[in-house]
Amino acid sequence: MSDAHRADTKAAPLDPAGRQRIAGILFDKDGTLLDYAKSWVPINYELGRRAARGDEALARTILAETGMDPDTGYVTPDSLLAAGNTVEIAEGMIAAGSPLSLADLTIAFDNLFAMAADYSTPVTDLGAFFAGLKAAGYRLGVASSDNERSIRETARRFGFTDCLDFVAGYDSGYGIKPEPGMVLGFCAATGLDPRQVAVVGDNNHDLHMGRAAGVGLTVAVLTGTGSPQSLAAAADHVLADITELHRVL
Ligand SMILES: [Mg+2]
Repeated sequence: MSDAHRADTKAAPLDPAGRQRIAGILFDKDGTLLDYAKSWVPINYELGRRAARGDEALARTILAETGMDPDTGYVTPDSLLAAGNTVEIAEGMIAAGSPLSLADLTIAFDNLFAMAADYSTPVTDLGAFFAGLKAAGYRLGVASSDNERSIRETARRFGFTDCLDFVAGYDSGYGIKPEPGMVLGFCAATGLDPRQVAVVGDNNHDLHMGRAAGVGLTVAVLTGTGSPQSLAAAADHVLADITELHRVL
């Protein structure tokens, strides 16, 4: 970081309690910007079917072992399907009996995830939501365990590409959650100090990533696979969804 950036950080305004004011927000995608149950449960069924090569009984086993009840679609908080990246989910499905190789599964999943953007369901009007935050002066980014291509496709489809200062997927070179790399990459891209950053997500790996990077604020939302109980320990605030974010900034 340059001396100019250091000086900027020191000069950043404090809130009335003397804390660094939040100037940047790094959002998780699935379960945070996109409604998890509507967007991902149908995809999970297809993932299981592909991983099992069409064997329905094996598909049920694979889904159950990686975190989703095949009858109800309920996804266990912080399970592989709730929180894993493509490679982690593929490894889990192989351990649960998938006959496919890790390479074949990963390619199949990445293609399916990229297509999933076409029928994903946003939590709110994301174009208006991001435009409002941008107009208020915030620097904005998305950090997801999905691949970068899917994130950019989601931003394009819902009209907030131009509002983003930073995008990181598991394949973007910043490491994976809950490591701090995606937050540090956002800081490097925006010139912000981690204490000026809020991380918003639906899983503990989002919040732990934020804490590992030393962010000023961790915010959990309940539009994903987490519950108030599962998220309370690592969240400064637990909100129903991102439209309540203004209350805690
Ligand atoms: Mg998520």
